Amino acid sequence: MAALAAKRTQSDRRVLLLGEEDRDPYEKPPLSKSVLAGLTEPETQLIVKPGMLAAAGVEVAQGAMAVAIDRARRLVHLRNGPPVSYGALVLATGAKARALAALPAGAPNVCYLRTAADALALRTALRGASGRRPVVVVGGGLIGLEAAASIGRASTTVLEAGSSALSRVCSADFAQVVVDRHRSAGVSIRLGVAIASASPSRDGIIVQLDDGTVIEAALLIVGVGGEPNTDLAIAAGLPVDDGILVDEHCRTSDPSIFAAGDVARFRTRWCRTPARLENWRHALDHGEAAGVNAAGGDTAYDCVPSFWSDQYDLRIQAVGWTDGLASPPLRRSVGDDRLIEFHVRDGRVRYAIAVGMGREMGIVRRMIERGTTVTAQVLTDPSVSLQALLGS
Ligand SMILES: Cc1cc2nc3c(=O)[nH]c(=O)nc-3n(C[C@H](O)[C@H](O)[C@H](O)COP(=O)(O)OP(=O)(O)OC[C@H]3O[C@@H](n4cnc5c(N)ncnc54)[C@H](O)[C@@H]3O)c2cc1C
Repeated sequence: MAALAAKRTQSDRRVLLLGEEDRDPYEKPPLSKSVLAGLTEPETQLIVKPGMLAAAGVEVAQGAMAVAIDRARRLVHLRNGPPVSYGALVLATGAKARALAALPAGAPNVCYLRTAADALALRTALRGASGRRPVVVVGGGLIGLEAAASIGRASTTVLEAGSSALSRVCSADFAQVVVDRHRSAGVSIRLGVAIASASPSRDGIIVQLDDGTVIEAALLIVGVGGEPNTDLAIAAGLPVDDGILVDEHCRTSDPSIFAAGDVARFRTRWCRTPARLENWRHALDHGEAAGVNAAGGDTAYDCVPSFWSDQYDLRIQAVGWTDGLASPPLRRSVGDDRLIEFHVRDGRVRYAIAVGMGREMGIVRRMIERGTTVTAQVLTDPSVSLQALLGS
């Protein structure tokens, strides 16, 4: 998005998109869903249609890994090939899967899930995995639970170190709805357990948990969060603190270097402390703002965070920012299959997460954007429509 927006903003300027992978830029959300389920391939899930970048005048260099930035000479050094000079540089290097020391990437029967290559390798590993042993997913967050749902193996076990699943994004009560859906599919979710050690076995991997349990797994899938790819920025001396620090114009401390997406951390009025947002819509909108500004525009980024997750027939949607889920949520159920929990501070909805609410989450987004004041009574009363709460 940054490259396209930069070209659109200044069409006579050369825009070069460097990517370390040998693929057209692809969407990541399908990797843990339809790609893992074997229903689609990464190459059919492209961010823009084939040829569209070239048609827009953006030059694309694949297999072009940036290894260093020379800020004084405004050069990006590549692993292969001559350095590239820049007038303005956007760092949109994303994040990598957080690795567990006991389960290094590349160890036999240990799979991580971040890239298309990861998803395809995991799919292949699942095909070859012994059906007699469970697949074990480490991490009961969004990626781990999506993976457990998508692989469609009844004997899957999810291990979560915390006291509830999805603890970064919802209350334990809300998480229970999702956990129950997994259990009805035969997936077992064990809470409050972590892996103490792991060793390869003849047809899988043996893991010992910190409660002494031993599991012989066919395969381990690790989904314990992401870490921003900040090495380039750190080496270049840019301020980094769990992400490259940027202002609302996506600017780093160097006026010619911008950062956007999963790799950037910034202040926004929607979050009480500087936040690094790791979701699809943010990546699009933030990238767009960075591209416009890198090409000389003046767009302040001000989008309410949001994400979705698909697990079985459940569509989970969230909007706003949790701020650590400090206050007890207010819940509204509509029938058996629609549920939303609101997190409210000072009489205003700050965050909401739902299953089955569909387009009504757009209304909640507007409530957050407008700072609509609400009471617990009306929020929890399903007979009061959300549209009525929002007003016109
Ligand atoms: C499996 C998975 C499922 C997801 N599902 C959802 C979902 O359901 N809903 C949702 O809202 N969000 C979801 N997300 C999050 C969303 O996809 C990310 O927030 C988004 O992809 C971030 O975009 P980005 O461009 O910042 O980073 P990335 O998508 O990580 O892209 C960064 C790119 O930079 C490249 N790169 C990194 N370093 C270098 C270098 N030194 N030189 C050259 N290139 C480099 C990488 O190869 C990569 O192509 C999911 C993410 C994953 C991984």
